[in-house]
Amino acid sequence: MKKTIFTLFLASFFAFVSQAQQINNGVMNLNEFSRPNKRSNIVIPDVNGFKVLKCDFHMHTVFSDGDVWPTVRVQEAWREGLDAIAITDHMEYTPKKDDITPNNNRPYEIAKPSAQRQGITLVKGTEVTRQTPPGHFNALFIGDTDDYLTVNTNETDREAVMKAEAQNAFIFWNHPGWQPGIAGSYEWLPFIEDLYKNKALDGIEVVNGTGFHMKALDWCIDKNLTVMGSTDVHNLISLSYDNSRDYVHRTMTLVLVRDNTPESVREALDARRTVAWASKYLMGKEENVRSLFNACVEVLPSHHSETNREGKTIKYYQIRNNSDLYFEMERTAGNGPGRIVLYPQSSQVIAAESGQPVYSVVTTYVRSDKHLSVNLLLP
Ligand SMILES: [Zn+2]
Ligand SMILES: [Zn+2]
Repeated sequence: MKKTIFTLFLASFFAFVSQAQQINNGVMNLNEFSRPNKRSNIVIPDVNGFKVLKCDFHMHTVFSDGDVWPTVRVQEAWREGLDAIAITDHMEYTPKKDDITPNNNRPYEIAKPSAQRQGITLVKGTEVTRQTPPGHFNALFIGDTDDYLTVNTNETDREAVMKAEAQNAFIFWNHPGWQPGIAGSYEWLPFIEDLYKNKALDGIEVVNGTGFHMKALDWCIDKNLTVMGSTDVHNLISLSYDNSRDYVHRTMTLVLVRDNTPESVREALDARRTVAWASKYLMGKEENVRSLFNACVEVLPSHHSETNREGKTIKYYQIRNNSDLYFEMERTAGNGPGRIVLYPQSSQVIAAESGQPVYSVVTTYVRSDKHLSVNLLLP
């Protein structure tokens, strides 16, 4: 009895203490409804020994026509599981200039300490903003913006882009199809051909926010340019993407890197090792999309077999998606289920005869009119 009373005393003592821990100088902390301070990890296995970084290299802040302060971009990226970002404000379009002094070095400088603390790789960038055509270009890994891109109305489009090239920037053509109503704007323009021939064009933004600029994917494939996907976000990410729903992520570029360092990101972008990820779709060079698929999807050895009414041996296999990506597959040859949906980090059991059925992964694009085709090995 004594022991029970003592235990009760202890229990109530600890209950009081734990409650007391929430009270500081007469103020009780009511944090039950606060949003937890946590990062959502996006799981993608390594691909051929490369880590898969989740990157968004096209975002705006109040330093041009965006609505947020630079550090907010870092906080959003950290929460969403991104690894590397760039703030790319318009140099030539600064509608908030009466309240915010235009200076394209500042978004990077302001965001940098926050990025360092959170372990986010911050790449310095800007958006070279010209009339359409030719439109807008993102320059990453730029130097001092005071040295170039000064707003000079006499400057030609070519001079503006070439200033970034002179700083050895990584340059990609943004949202080429954003104003398709302007005749000739969504074409491989002589201006673009000139940049390309002079090695001043490294990639194209194939996905801009929720727009898949399909012709741009073919240009990237045919001319060996880097496939980019980015948000071009101006407001809060949470106002543009419904992160409260499962599997919803912002548009991003998956970059296959040796390390999460600016140097490795640059090397991977130059080497064209990227896949754009937007909604449930993956867009990229076939070899990159195939390597990514192979790293994420595996078929386990058959765990059961039966003889069906026609006397054929039907085996049961578990097919697993070890990633947070999403794959829908439709059979185009051989035996097996007509359609397989692989939800993020999940498995399916399929029944099939042994063989190598061919599937079209319809949530991938390796050209504007072509999905990745894979052989499922069913031993
Ligand atoms: Zn733009
Ligand atoms: Zn933009």
